[in-house]
Amino acid sequence: MGEIPIEDVVFRIRPKGDNMTGIIDFKTDQERAEYNDSQLDQKLKNIVTLLAYYSWEFFNKKVFITEVYRTQHENNLIYKDTKHVSLHTYHHAVDIRSSIYTDEEIEKLLTVANTILYRKGSKHKTAKYHHVGNGAFHFHIQTSAY
Ligand SMILES: [Zn+2]
Repeated sequence: MGEIPIEDVVFRIRPKGDNMTGIIDFKTDQERAEYNDSQLDQKLKNIVTLLAYYSWEFFNKKVFITEVYRTQHENNLIYKDTKHVSLHTYHHAVDIRSSIYTDEEIEKLLTVANTILYRKGSKHKTAKYHHVGNGAFHFHIQTSAY
């Protein structure tokens, strides 16, 4: 499968609002507020919206956002490394719960997310399936901050 620029995909299916009431759930009201904060990258939200449509359409499961914004201090505690730069601290990343999906569904979601280029020529992937520190496996979705 080739890579499709996000502009060719997401803006055509832009929903009524960013909140996507119904198919995006949030761990807490804090994540909901951070997600709806205008500082969060719009392109990132478009990708999450697309994934939420896909997840709902094909798996009948809601995308569940577990983390949005993180301070550098919080990041240092997680990575035990003050040099690690996280796009969460730049309002360019969200984490999505993966434990609700089967291995096959995880594979499909990664393929869909990584088919969307967030910056032409970027080598960085849009989606990772990983865990950090002692945390649980999850999807990390990011867009370029520069
Ligand atoms: Zn993350």
